[in-house]
Amino acid sequence: ATILAIETSCDETAVAIVNNCEVHSNIVASQIDVHRVYGGVVPEIASRQHLEMINLCIEQSLSGAEYQWSQIDAIAATVAPGLVGSLMVGVTAAKTLAIIHNKPFLGVHHLEGHIYASYLNDPQLKPPFICLLVSGGHTSLIYVKDCGIYEMLGSTRDDAAGEAFDKVARLLGLSYPGGPAIDRIAQTGNTEAFPLPEGRISTPEGGYHPYDSSFSGLKTAVLRLVNKLQTENGQILPINDLAASFQATVARALTKRAIACALDYGVKTIAVGGGVAANSALRQHLTAAAANHDLDVHFPPLKLCTDNAAMIGCAAADHFNRGHRSSLSLAVQSRLPITEVMSLYL
Ligand code: ATP
Ligand code: MG
Ligand code: FE
Repeated sequence: ATILAIETSCDETAVAIVNNCEVHSNIVASQIDVHRVYGGVVPEIASRQHLEMINLCIEQSLSGAEYQWSQIDAIAATVAPGLVGSLMVGVTAAKTLAIIHNKPFLGVHHLEGHIYASYLNDPQLKPPFICLLVSGGHTSLIYVKDCGIYEMLGSTRDDAAGEAFDKVARLLGLSYPGGPAIDRIAQTGNTEAFPLPEGRISTPEGGYHPYDSSFSGLKTAVLRLVNKLQTENGQILPINDLAASFQATVARALTKRAIACALDYGVKTIAVGGGVAANSALRQHLTAAAANHDLDVHFPPLKLCTDNAAMIGCAAADHFNRGHRSSLSLAVQSRLPITEVMSLYL
């Protein structure tokens, strides 16, 4: 099926045209520069920016793909989870187009989109597999059973992986978004310079929870280290070593949990999604560990790791092909567990 898809859940205004797993156009207007001065996403500014950009992105997407409306089977948009005001812009645009052009409308779960980014690169990928979803707001291990059918095996108890990157970057005086900045300077740092806690979660029985993470303790450990180093050395911080040590700790923690999960559930494949899937240390650690355990690991190409509409279109196409449709009265939701994806369809 050919889908025009819209993604506006956070700070990227994105429109794509996909034919199942084939991307025909993929427009991403990032608001990063607008939010950078505030050090993070400002929701009111994000929705206003989406409103300003959305029509242009839709036009560019259609002209870039040389598509006519008659060739489009359905219109899709991210309906949950995300910033309500931002989601509203994309969903309203999609519903309006669906009414004007008399096409079915499909609401898409943003995290299911991140999972489908792996199919775009690898249409041969087949469930069941484990998805390690590591983004700005989520750190999840998801058992992917089939389209729309997910089980949550692990999550973060506090900060998400991307959030930890963004907060630690701020501590190190690096600009927003922190993930790419840390990844860049970590290349010249020593990963063994500072031992840091991996953020395991204790169980009442005295063991550790195998799949859950906690990154707020790691962030606090970096903060204490920064304060200590500053009192010892004045203003000069070894930020490359700090970044490399922090990044390696996160990569190690995520790798252990993903591998344990795949082995315990007897699944041969791990697919990684979300912005942190772009991280070079995570890619190296997980690729090496998977090879040691005879597991396959799939990473989307870098530009499909962070938010885009191609992944939303790919998920929508699979639902559309199965006969799933959404109601035009489907409302946006700031939160919705991925286990409830099927509630979006009639
Ligand atoms: P969610 O998908 O949970 O709603 P989001 O859509 O804001 O959150 P994404 O766009 O998937 O998140 O990812 C953005 C996050 O990815 C940011 O926290 C950013 O710092 C992080 N990130 C991007 N590139 C890298 C990288 N190379 N290394 C580490 N983190 C990265
Ligand atoms: Mg973003
Ligand atoms: Fe995202």
